[in-house]
Amino acid sequence: MTSTATTPVTDLLIALAQRLKTVLRDEDTLSRIGGDEFVAVIVNLDQPQTCEPILERLLQAAAGPVIVDDLVLGVSASVGVTFYPQDNSDAERLLRHADQAMYQAKQMGRNRYHLFDVAQDVAVTVRNESLARIRRALDESELVLYYQPKVNMKMGKFIGVETLIRWQHPERGLLLPATFLPSIEGHPISVELDEWVINAAMTQIRTWHSAGLEIPVSVNIGARQLQQRAFVARLADLLASHPKVDPANLELEILESSALEDMLSVVEVMNACIALGVSFALDDFGTGYSSLTYLRRLPAKCLKIDRSFVLEMLDDPDDLAIVQGVIGLATAFRRQVIAEGAETVAHGTQLLAQGCVLAQGFGIARPMPASEVLDWVVKWRPDAAWTA
Ligand code: C2E
Ligand code: CA
Ligand code: CA
Repeated sequence: MTSTATTPVTDLLIALAQRLKTVLRDEDTLSRIGGDEFVAVIVNLDQPQTCEPILERLLQAAAGPVIVDDLVLGVSASVGVTFYPQDNSDAERLLRHADQAMYQAKQMGRNRYHLFDVAQDVAVTVRNESLARIRRALDESELVLYYQPKVNMKMGKFIGVETLIRWQHPERGLLLPATFLPSIEGHPISVELDEWVINAAMTQIRTWHSAGLEIPVSVNIGARQLQQRAFVARLADLLASHPKVDPANLELEILESSALEDMLSVVEVMNACIALGVSFALDDFGTGYSSLTYLRRLPAKCLKIDRSFVLEMLDDPDDLAIVQGVIGLATAFRRQVIAEGAETVAHGTQLLAQGCVLAQGFGIARPMPASEVLDWVVKWRPDAAWTA
């Protein structure tokens, strides 16, 4: 703290401090904690709202003109507030929270106060902690890929696998994507995760290739990736680092709904990726309301019928109508069509009756670790009803 008592700035601070004191009560405390920052500790409030008139008066007191050395100076204040014990933190954190609230007040304009939001702070902290934990999972190889076979039911032929990410959590066990992907959505770490998946999938393609099997692999790509041109360069780098992997064995699954969000740039990025040799499938098809014009322009080789329709089609004629509709669209636009969620033999039989021969689902195989795929491929036989 400086002690040159006679500069205009110091005079201004003194004048302000005196004025601020006049609006506080005797039991309250005011102190300057450095620079132009003051802290007021306001005690004995029956409820938080009781302090609002005091805050208004503090703002007014700070905003009035101050005369220093014949100069009329005008300043404005921004006030950040947190309430103890609602914000159940120690003194240091209470100050930090008030400080955060003050910065928010500043951003909203001059002469304002802002109340620290405890619930929001908890939410942000939780999100940061889970991001940090997922970051560690990536760094410490706790993420693993499972593979779910896709087949041609009619010909009884295995046609490839879809990669599905899992988190082998040291304490919580094997976690499904729904438990951790939502918390990284929209965060740069999701870009890194998708790259990790593509890289791991290509390594696996190569491993299977060395064992004598050519297995096409589909990977799921997060919603925002395809809206960024940078994705093309990253995909090119990944392909270049696996020169022995045929890009034709890599299919990217993107959500129909995310493809529609920013059609023009998505189509551009898709075409650039296709030029690198990979292909696309539109995932969860039927949930995104593609118009026919859109579908015509999206360069996806394959439509994946969303599993919700497939699962329900045996009981609900509307779901069956949607399944039929998607199959019809695929035929009309000369796209492949595959059904997800073929949970039982009956689902497969109905799909075949509708003219959809490609499927994946628990009725064929559950997602499995890479080490089990070869065995499964050797042993799998289609249901007799399908090939009849
Ligand atoms: P999705 O792409 O629609 O994947 C299919 C999901 O359906 C998988 O759930 C799969 O286990 C499940 N499934 C397969 N067959 C059946 C069936 O017969 N019945 C039922 N009820 N479910 C079946 P999972 O593995 O929990 O994945 C959920 C979602 O997480 C995926 O949905 C995908 O959107 C996302 N996801 C998975 N892996 C990745 C990844 O590596 N990267 C990204 N960005 N997203 C991923
Ligand atoms: Ca998928
Ligand atoms: Ca899907």
